Amino acid sequence: SIPHISTGDIFRANIKNGTELGKKAKTYMDQGLLVPDELVVDLVVDRVNQDDCVNGYVLDGFPRTIPQAEALDKALAEMGQKMDYAIRRACVDCGATYHIVYAPTKEEDICDKCGGGLILRDDDKPETVLKRLGVYHEQTQPLIDYYTQAGILKEVDGTVDIDDVFAEIVKILGE
Ligand code: AMP
Repeated sequence: SIPHISTGDIFRANIKNGTELGKKAKTYMDQGLLVPDELVVDLVVDRVNQDDCVNGYVLDGFPRTIPQAEALDKALAEMGQKMDYAIRRACVDCGATYHIVYAPTKEEDICDKCGGGLILRDDDKPETVLKRLGVYHEQTQPLIDYYTQAGILKEVDGTVDIDDVFAEIVKILGE
């Protein structure tokens, strides 16, 4: 019952709505690059300051770089808050809501929830995914050490059933 804040979703919504932020973000996303830190950090800090975040929130896809993590820690400290847990899923994040094998739709290429047609995201093309993987190793993987040192890193087996991954994360958050 707390908000799920996905920076990727926020950027995609902005692209769909043709906002200035969306236009800027798209040029990076389509190349498999990270959107510059300064465009992401303010967005997240504004979002977690909204009323629905008073009881907590889940950040998804953020922070993706050490400077983002440091900026977040600083902003949270100024708000009298801190990050409780960093959850690391030990699988490659495909970014898809459905998975052809592990979470298929009932009807091929049709969304179970809304009946809409499913598409492959522009940034999920093989060449872009390869680029994103390189960017991950260079810029995002160092966060594993960052949160290990902060003593809040929890590892979850991301290769098991989705319900089991969810239960494991809920268990950690309840500790
Ligand atoms: P995602 O849906 O989390 O896989 O994000 C899709 C794309 O949005 C990424 O490949 C980046 O280009 C951009 N993006 C999302 N979150 C961030 C972030 N925290 N920092 C920089 N770029 C981001």
